Amino acid sequence: MAEVSVTKDAVPAADELVALKNVNKHFGALHVLQDIDMTIARGEVVVVIGPSGSGKSTLCRAINRLETVESGTITIDGKPLPQEGKELARLRADVGMVFQSFNLFAHKTVLENVMLGQVKVRKTDKKAAEEKARALLDRVGVGVQADKYPAQLSGGQQQRVAIARALAMDPKVMLFDEPTSALDPEMINEVLEVMQQLARDGMTMVVVTHEMGFARSAANRVVFMADGRIVEEATPDEFFSNPRSDRAKDFLSKIL
Ligand code: ADP
Ligand code: MG
Repeated sequence: MAEVSVTKDAVPAADELVALKNVNKHFGALHVLQDIDMTIARGEVVVVIGPSGSGKSTLCRAINRLETVESGTITIDGKPLPQEGKELARLRADVGMVFQSFNLFAHKTVLENVMLGQVKVRKTDKKAAEEKARALLDRVGVGVQADKYPAQLSGGQQQRVAIARALAMDPKVMLFDEPTSALDPEMINEVLEVMQQLARDGMTMVVVTHEMGFARSAANRVVFMADGRIVEEATPDEFFSNPRSDRAKDFLSKIL
């Protein structure tokens, strides 16, 4: 596989936190990311929408190098993502990720889940890590569940723990890949509210979601993907009231 090239002009624009330039990736014959150019400013909330299979998850996974890319550059705060090694671990720790499927450690308590990365990756001492974990669990509304195991919590509570766990690493940007898609309907709002609050607090966020209410109220920008390409980018108002591409019109007619 070709190396990701390192840009010479890796100095970010004033407030550019994440930048993808001409990123390409295949899965076999499938060109899953095609010439992706995307920048995310500090404090910006970008909602990524598009049909199933359009490459949204692959895009998120590329941003924290859970997937390699074949060409193009991805920079986080001006630093190109390396392919591997300690520097990758450091940069990856700057990118918090929340998945559809929670991915909590089942054999660890809620509190331990939120402490683990702090102690292992950030080398925070245990007392400080515990204090921070408890504060974050309170912030997402599951402080009283701290000593339980994930399986004893509802899906909405588990997803809020997953958000707290990601926040515990002090990420520069948070990626959410369909964080409410696996939840029972009555639990969706409790998770979206935590995300709304995070957005109001100024967190830089990339959110893949089908929750158009969230997109309308929290997003600064909507990115519409189809077939591995960014087809359209606009403010939520523009996008929902006046989609320009046929693909976006068709997609919106099916979900709204
Ligand atoms: P989305 O999140 O928009 O639904 P994905 O990024 O998950 O799309 O997937 C885009 C396309 O890439 C789909 O056709 C999917 O089947 C394919 N794909 C995803 N991951 C892999 C993989 N590890 N190996 C092969 N194909 C994959
Ligand atoms: Mg997906």
